[in-house]
Amino acid sequence: MRKTIVAGNWKMNASKETVNSLIEGILSGMNEVSSEVIVCAPFPYLSQVESLINNSKLMLGAQNLNINPAGAFTGEVSADMIKDFGAQHVIVGHSERRSLYGETNAIVAEKTKAAIGAGLTPLLCVGESLEDRESGKTEAIVEEQINAVIDLIGIEAFDQVIIAYEPVWAIGTGLTASPEQAQTVHLFIRNLLANSSEKIAKRTPILYGGSMNAANAADLISCSDIDGGLIGGAALKAEDFLQICKAG
Ligand code: PEP
Repeated sequence: MRKTIVAGNWKMNASKETVNSLIEGILSGMNEVSSEVIVCAPFPYLSQVESLINNSKLMLGAQNLNINPAGAFTGEVSADMIKDFGAQHVIVGHSERRSLYGETNAIVAEKTKAAIGAGLTPLLCVGESLEDRESGKTEAIVEEQINAVIDLIGIEAFDQVIIAYEPVWAIGTGLTASPEQAQTVHLFIRNLLANSSEKIAKRTPILYGGSMNAANAADLISCSDIDGGLIGGAALKAEDFLQICKAG
């Protein structure tokens, strides 16, 4: 039985003040939540969140990492640094990083490897653009994105990976994949993993991301291959985020 996981991606939205109130709000409702809950904070706030969630079941994640362990990489942050602040997770391959910062499938695979190597659990994002979907390429694109990672790290390493299927056309747009559309791709991903290992395919959590909110979360999460959500906009309001967490 796979557990339900809800992860918030705050993106580049935070201040010391909003972090305090957001975490306080989430913590106040956590006793009614059975899902595993992760908040992915911008780097400067990892330490603040680490202190605030101490002794709670809320978990911390980062939003990016550099593939190198240390060295002359000005402005970059390593997996070990992220771990040092009590984070257990890190987002890799978010579509904003793929499209705005040129992250290729090969780079995303290296980031996944670096995260696992440091003992972090990568939240590996995959998903097609609207153009890909409209030209019938959804499965081919997702397959390429996932195979790049399997080829580099091997299927066994997926025991430490959470996949997030995030159709690019649904991220931050208010458009959500229907439960049927999402379930179809989630099942495709699970079958793809099963081609290499049925055991790992059954165990790997596959989250949906793309305008998930308090109103649509339960319908999406009730699909048999949707194991939770990666939440952007709705993760910035404690009440909305908690409702999604409770939907799991
Ligand atoms: C995201 O950025 O991963 C995301 C799913 O954003 P939103 O929920 O705002 O669509």
